[in-house]
Amino acid sequence: MLQQTQVQAVLPYYQKWMKLFPNVQTLASAPLQKVLKSWQGLGYYRRAQNLWQAARLLVEKYGGQLPANYDELRRLPGFGPYTTAAVLSLAYGQPYPVIEANVRRVLMRLAGWKTRAFSSSDRKWLALLEFFFPTRKAKEFNQAMMELGGLVCKPRHPRCHLCPIQRFCAAFARGEQETIPPLKTLRSEKIQAVVAIFRKNGKYLIQKRPERGLFGGLWEFPGGKRKTGETLEEALQREIKEELGAEIEAMRFLLSVDHAYTRFHVKLHAFACRFRSRPHLDNQRHRWVSLSSLRKYPFPSGSAKVVEYLKNHSDPTRNCR
Ligand code: SF4
Repeated sequence: MLQQTQVQAVLPYYQKWMKLFPNVQTLASAPLQKVLKSWQGLGYYRRAQNLWQAARLLVEKYGGQLPANYDELRRLPGFGPYTTAAVLSLAYGQPYPVIEANVRRVLMRLAGWKTRAFSSSDRKWLALLEFFFPTRKAKEFNQAMMELGGLVCKPRHPRCHLCPIQRFCAAFARGEQETIPPLKTLRSEKIQAVVAIFRKNGKYLIQKRPERGLFGGLWEFPGGKRKTGETLEEALQREIKEELGAEIEAMRFLLSVDHAYTRFHVKLHAFACRFRSRPHLDNQRHRWVSLSSLRKYPFPSGSAKVVEYLKNHSDPTRNCR
């Protein structure tokens, strides 16, 4: 959960998760949809899928225990070099150094290395760590380095006056601690998207996203991105034609919601719609779901705001059937 996400944001999710899935067996036997639903809002949904798949493998092959072996752990879904080293050192006290964003930054400043912080350079940092990595205190050392990077040697405005390793730090000695590593300027793409709200016999049409890719396995209302030059209505008609092979009409604007994801910002426009021709619906992918059941389905955060709107408005699609 903590990959790419701050502790404060994770805490409520972690507590809820541990109540729902207190052990590997409970997680392994849960339906994926329930797992994704409890992750809703945390982003990077691939992590939830990986945890669930890893739990199933652990139960099937290892009696529900995490193997204390690098190669076996590395084969589990979601276990890259960082997670594997973290589990082996923190849980089993094995001498594996952990390199993640915080540790990488501390090492770059210590050595006064000025290029960007790429994980592809980690071999260099592992070689450097060999000089002072305490194999018998791997757990304490790894946690200390991660905490040092998270709390003291921060990306912006490092708190060097509190730093216990200040006298070894090349960046501090040269006054370069604010410029190593050079900060990335993250440009967030702005996306306009449209979704169609169809209602039939008190149920709403939703569709499942492919298991792989962005928001994999989550549910959404039919629709998609607006292309340059299109009006919102044109985008909606094109998207529904492409997705469901149907013509639509009687559109009524319902609401726009904004949501900032890590790499992009979406403005989502929802319209109440009705079909003018028969849609091609696939039992595996499409469902008509009552308002009360919508809350059981995991949605990306932008679509979840549309669901909230529907719950708070008795029949927003009236005159659209
Ligand atoms: Fe980071 Fe400053 Fe400590 Fe160097 S002295 S490791 S820049 S906090």
